[in-house]
Amino acid sequence: MEQNSLQQVSRRNFMKGALVAGAATAAMGLAACSPSSPSDAGNLADTGSASSVDWDQEADIVIVGGGTGGSCAALAAAEAGASVIVIEANNSIGGSGALCGGAIVGAGTKMQAEAGIEGDNGDALLRDTQASLEAMFGPDHVEHVGDDWCITELHCAEAGNTVDWLVEHGVDIVGPSQQPGQPVARLHMLYPDASAWPSVIQPQLEEAGVDLKFNTKGAELIVESGRVVDVKTEGASGSYYKANKGVVMATGSIEASKEWRKKIYTLAQSNVEASNKLNDGTGIRMMCKVGADTTEYTAMAAAPALFCTAGNASHWYELLMNQMGAILVDSQGKRFASENTPSGEMLLTVDALTDRQAFLVYDAAIAETPEMSTQPMLTIRGSGYGPFSELEGQEGKVFFGDTIEEVAEAAGVDPAGLAAEIEKYNANAAAGSDPDFGRTNFGIATAGLTKPPYRIIGPVYATVMSGAFGVGVTDKLEVLDTLGEVIPGLYATGEGAHGLAKDFLTGAGGKFSWALTSGRLVGSYLASL
Ligand SMILES: Cc1cc2nc3c(=O)[nH]c(=O)nc-3n(C[C@H](O)[C@H](O)[C@H](O)COP(=O)(O)OP(=O)(O)OC[C@H]3O[C@@H](n4cnc5c(N)ncnc54)[C@H](O)[C@@H]3O)c2cc1C
Repeated sequence: MEQNSLQQVSRRNFMKGALVAGAATAAMGLAACSPSSPSDAGNLADTGSASSVDWDQEADIVIVGGGTGGSCAALAAAEAGASVIVIEANNSIGGSGALCGGAIVGAGTKMQAEAGIEGDNGDALLRDTQASLEAMFGPDHVEHVGDDWCITELHCAEAGNTVDWLVEHGVDIVGPSQQPGQPVARLHMLYPDASAWPSVIQPQLEEAGVDLKFNTKGAELIVESGRVVDVKTEGASGSYYKANKGVVMATGSIEASKEWRKKIYTLAQSNVEASNKLNDGTGIRMMCKVGADTTEYTAMAAAPALFCTAGNASHWYELLMNQMGAILVDSQGKRFASENTPSGEMLLTVDALTDRQAFLVYDAAIAETPEMSTQPMLTIRGSGYGPFSELEGQEGKVFFGDTIEEVAEAAGVDPAGLAAEIEKYNANAAAGSDPDFGRTNFGIATAGLTKPPYRIIGPVYATVMSGAFGVGVTDKLEVLDTLGEVIPGLYATGEGAHGLAKDFLTGAGGKFSWALTSGRLVGSYLASL
């Protein structure tokens, strides 16, 4: 598959805009996707000047954040001959991308062709994405997204190339796997999981000469003659890194910022820890300080979820509890609430436990029920989507025991505590009552959990996986200001860069795929300037 440059994609996008969204949207797309004009320069107040700031080091491109988007941007740029500095708060690359489910959406990939999947391409992915977004948000969704729809187009056109690019760089990917509801297999899964790819990419960054500055936090963007030219790092004695071609903000979103989340969430929801505690929104604030426009902040952004070794439990929690009749216990093996509580509320109860974790307990009768055993799960190592029964067969995902004590021991739950709790629970369930917590729906387990082998999934904990809140960008990943004009010298990738197009990130693998893709594209684009 041809590796497109951003400029090529822009031209293609104008045409696709007309095809998929009608002439009106295409015209709006033209406005958003046009390159920055020289008149954009000079709108920003200078925060420094060549005479007032002594640069500590300079490079063609300075990237803040060496996570998913940042490391791809760095690799693409360095391989195209650019000098690159990466400022990363952590001590290694990867960011949220090393913690995620590892699914990458991509259409028209070599892996699809090898699997005999013919005819899938970016246009088909865009068509299906638009259809699912319209089903979720209404028929005027594309019109609502307006100019920013070119980001959805860019993602759909280029995600497949990103998968091929990762494979070419030695990243182990399996699949493709078909997401329920999608017409074709498009999910490409990192193997054995998402923690592996940084150790493949980081040596290549080092070999390509990328200057990786770990344990260093970007704090401020310096503007000179209306152009973002430099990044200052945190602290009174922070360093100044000058970017001759552009600064790329790849700092994720605001998921670890309780203050930001408090703007729309309750205190308890805001207190839930983010999976990636370093994505604290400083990058978004840095961009706002030089005039960047942020997207609307809605409840989709940075929502807490129940997470465990089997991925995002919120998706199947209510099936396992209400229809099946599993129970939820703490580390002492004690129940602490009615399992009929909706997952959005239950995660806050879990988060309020002393060690902020709980364990899902069920038995063979539940596991063997067709509704449960065929429940699609995204976390099947080696294939992606697969039935719950397959997940149960994978080491480290579910604990088993022929007795309650045995399964408790394996999962790190107090064996005596759990055995006593289940004995009491079973007696109450058989009588159809729950004097402790008022559970009314026991699912199919009307006599409680009685059939070995018993199972535990855990620990289960509340977390904020992603932010999906950020700044508006053009399809060259140039950051836009509040007037919709390009901020010269400033680019952004990943979860912090999408404008109103953020809703396409909701699909499985969409956020991760966008971060990888936007990073790869902005890196090669800046290197070509
Ligand atoms: C548990 C979990 C499950 C997920 N599951 C899915 C899924 O199923 N599907 C999906 O599509 N997506 C999923 N995601 C989201 C996906 O991983 C992210 O959307 C994507 O990796 C974001 O990439 P990014 O480059 O924007 O941010 P990141 O990869 O997080 O990179 C940001 C980097 O910036 C650094 N940083 C932050 N601030 C600064 C600063 N001021 N200075 C220097 N460095 C800074 C951080 O340390 C980090 O390395 C999941 C995420 C998590 C955590």
